[in-house]
Amino acid sequence: MRCTHLLFVVLLLLACQQQKVQDTVTEVQVEKKEKKQEPVFDFISLEYIMGKFDPSKDKGFVAIPLKYSDREGMYMRKEAMKAFEEMNEAALKDGVKLVIRSAARNFDYQKGIWEKKWTGATKLSDGTNVATDIPSAKAKALKILEYSSMPGSSRHHWGTDIDFNSFENSWFESGEGLKLFNWLEANASKYGFGRPYSKKGSDRPHGYNEEKWHWSYLPIANSLTAFAERQLKNEMIQGFQGAETASEIDIVSKYVLGIHSSCKK
Ligand SMILES: [Zn+2]
Repeated sequence: MRCTHLLFVVLLLLACQQQKVQDTVTEVQVEKKEKKQEPVFDFISLEYIMGKFDPSKDKGFVAIPLKYSDREGMYMRKEAMKAFEEMNEAALKDGVKLVIRSAARNFDYQKGIWEKKWTGATKLSDGTNVATDIPSAKAKALKILEYSSMPGSSRHHWGTDIDFNSFENSWFESGEGLKLFNWLEANASKYGFGRPYSKKGSDRPHGYNEEKWHWSYLPIANSLTAFAERQLKNEMIQGFQGAETASEIDIVSKYVLGIHSSCKK
């Protein structure tokens, strides 16, 4: 009788052990699946995607050397910087000179840009004075949103997005600009860069107008986009003049996610 009991206990222990192994395997599989779907970077948070930090004091960011840019004091994520340097080396060999005109801009910086346009202190590139030429708040915001983001909703907060050479699409349509644009279209993806603000159409019905100068380091930006899709809400976009229009305009799904499909994978 004792022997039978002992055998039963041994079998029970073996069964438990087997279950433990199975549980561990399942946990690893789940973890692997999650990681495959969306690489998680420990710096990602709502504060981060809304630009509520100082890139000059963030250890994930580096200052952009003057040899790559048109002014001092710009920052980008170090991973994006490394990829840019590799891409730039290849571009130079092909006679293409990339100049970074803008990179990381935090919430406060973007608030400055937005409010200068909102108050009419700065006219838009087509000469519009938003404060005097456009009556309703929603129409004002939509006009500025043709090319500028609301603070808290810009990809430039992320340190992954950079603007090259010129803020005029026409510059990229002939001569040196066209050569540079064609080179980027053919080669940028090899270094992880993609263009979120492609021509508007069936693939991209909503969002900012086309920006031939704006490129994004997708190995990190795509995780930030996925996080924004899950966590960022229209009502969180606040703290600047005109913010009351964010929900009505549906800033998150129309603008933050109004990007080319290649930038959403
Ligand atoms: Zn840009």
